[in-house]
Amino acid sequence: MDMAAKFQDQQVFHMTGRRSGEGLVPLDTVPMRPAQFAGYRDLTRLRHDFPLVLVDSGTTDGFAASLTILVNHVLETLAPRGIEGERLRKHVLRLERELRARLAEGAGGTLSELWAEAASKLASDADESVAKVLALAGESLRIDGALVDCDERLPSRFMIHAWRHVQSQKAALFHGHLDRLQRKLSDILRAAHAHSEAGQRPAALRAAVGGFHADEFDFAAMSKLVSRNVPKDQLPAARRARIEKALSALVSQRFHAPRVPGGEGSKVHDFLFDNVAAAVAAYRERLPQVVELVKAIAIAELEARNGYDEHDHDPFFEAYDENSLTADDLALFPDSLVCIPAGRNDAPENAGLMDTLSSGLPVKVVVEVTDLLEESSIGTGHYAFGVRSARLATAAMGLGGMFVLQAASSSLYRMRNRIEHGMGCSLPALFSVFAGAPAAAGELSRYLTAAAAMESRAFPAFVYDAAGGDNWATRFSLEHNRDPETDWPVESLEYADEQMQRVRGQSAFTYADFAMCDRRNAAHFAVVPRDRWTSAMIPAVDWLALPERDAAERIPYLVAVDDEDALHRVLVDARMMQASKRCLLLWHRIQEHAGIHDSHAVRLLAREKAEWEAQKSRELDALRSEVANAPTTVADAPAPAASAVAAAVAASTPPPEEKPPSDDPWIETARCPSCNECQLINPEMFVYNENKQAYIKDANAGTFRQLVEAAETCQVAIIHPGKPRNPDEPGLEELMKRAEAFN
Ligand code: SF4
Repeated sequence: MDMAAKFQDQQVFHMTGRRSGEGLVPLDTVPMRPAQFAGYRDLTRLRHDFPLVLVDSGTTDGFAASLTILVNHVLETLAPRGIEGERLRKHVLRLERELRARLAEGAGGTLSELWAEAASKLASDADESVAKVLALAGESLRIDGALVDCDERLPSRFMIHAWRHVQSQKAALFHGHLDRLQRKLSDILRAAHAHSEAGQRPAALRAAVGGFHADEFDFAAMSKLVSRNVPKDQLPAARRARIEKALSALVSQRFHAPRVPGGEGSKVHDFLFDNVAAAVAAYRERLPQVVELVKAIAIAELEARNGYDEHDHDPFFEAYDENSLTADDLALFPDSLVCIPAGRNDAPENAGLMDTLSSGLPVKVVVEVTDLLEESSIGTGHYAFGVRSARLATAAMGLGGMFVLQAASSSLYRMRNRIEHGMGCSLPALFSVFAGAPAAAGELSRYLTAAAAMESRAFPAFVYDAAGGDNWATRFSLEHNRDPETDWPVESLEYADEQMQRVRGQSAFTYADFAMCDRRNAAHFAVVPRDRWTSAMIPAVDWLALPERDAAERIPYLVAVDDEDALHRVLVDARMMQASKRCLLLWHRIQEHAGIHDSHAVRLLAREKAEWEAQKSRELDALRSEVANAPTTVADAPAPAASAVAAAVAASTPPPEEKPPSDDPWIETARCPSCNECQLINPEMFVYNENKQAYIKDANAGTFRQLVEAAETCQVAIIHPGKPRNPDEPGLEELMKRAEAFN
């Protein structure tokens, strides 16, 4: 087959997704994975964040720990440096690998349980000293808790554990405060009783003295002596009733679990829900109890310092209702956690999610996103919550007034401090977690698909905290993404070519690479055998950077590896490339929130530059006129100073811009900050002058569409597309409308 025929097959596939001839192999017939994943075939042999220990409550070590870090700590503590420690290191690392393998096979349990099981298995294949070494290492683990892998249950388990951890800290503070108030109120009642008629009776006196010396006193005589002129009750009736009522409300509260399980007040409310409607209903139903408890606490505080003034406080507390509650009052109570099960995002009971979050209810919601790919192209996809689920977090961020965190499940551990903060903050919070799509992921693990979603910018990690400050720089963070300032993260790639020679290169990980991991997208890809590679093929990442006209001449491909780790080129169809462009556009918007390539900053820079140039031009004009008016000694010879100035003027002044005829496109060249965007669209039409500022070299070198797109792309809006030159160009009506804003 000649080159032209090969190219035509590939071009047809790229444009239409249809394979013709035998030169293109369907992706679903050959197991392929992105070349960057070649080194991650067996995650059980790779020391990484997972598995995690969800740390039992009662420790101060945070709520989650990585097994790798725990094992490192054990080895640092127990294994001597050098050769003597080598044996211990080897056995403990084997045990760590065994734990990973067990979890990957579906085992479950606590770290101590699974450690003991794995240790006994490894010891049974070795001598007794191995058992001792592993048992010793197990004893030196600092913490315990459920050992979990990055599987389908991870997002809900991790988030519920984080929430419980935060709530237990909140409960400890709450109980500390309540205990203090209860003690003080009880002391007031006890003291009043001791000074009352009832407190002076013989039995009460005996109980008060109590213990060893009780038989040495005559309590009847003592009672007669001390009870003269004693009031029936030292506390006024209203005060006693108020204190007793407040005390009873504190003791019987049902919001925080008692310190001792099964103790008084153990019938506490449940704050964990699986849908938004149930959480809202429970909040409303419990609101009167919240009001009563807050009232009781306020009264108790006043009584404890003897500051209750019936004249002022009675009417205040009579009118006290749910509208009187402040954010500080509500912060005393547990926040509801709604963990929406994967697959229930579009259930009617969750339809009010955005309204609930924006209403300021103290609720934390975890939404699991399991499918990003079906939503990638315009006009398709499923709209739970009124927006595409992959855009849910950005939409919530736009509402403001809440905490929003978006993350893939693979990065939950690294973002644990942010998660803990979000669970504990006083704002409503949304946690949108991509948990991978197992049915679609082929042979890749959940961990890898989740990590791929994040790396490819399909589901970037970010945190927005409305209470984090008064500007975007303090409220918004992209810090957990790799290379957040670039379009795509780039990795070194090393492989053997067909002559078995080592080749080193670089490869970007794009949205299309992520999409390739999903078998349902096989139709958008085609594997090209090496003998059919053509010079028109170009890496997808380079294709994305080409101007439209040049891109039309080339075919984008990805690099992938098969089961034998042989390198292949995989063509990508136009629809998938369009989805990649769209992903990039959304990533750029998110970058702007983090101040990366901020268009406002670029515009400001351009304005400053233009002002600086205008100033410079005025100074030169002044210099020119000074020279022109200077007396000359030799009439016909130009003064040296004048020559220097003329040279300086010539060197520093941009070529004069000809006033364009009204319908011609033109650029305000002097204001161009050289961002290069227009040249990416058409480098023949847009070129730089000697000052590296853009002008239109040849308006006929491209289409009116390119002029309009360049005008729309130009960060400082200095490109004026004029009127179309070719009346037959498709879509002119729409293009002229778009051009109006720039002419
Ligand atoms: S897009 Fe605008 S700012 Fe950027 S190089 Fe072109 S004219 Fe200059």
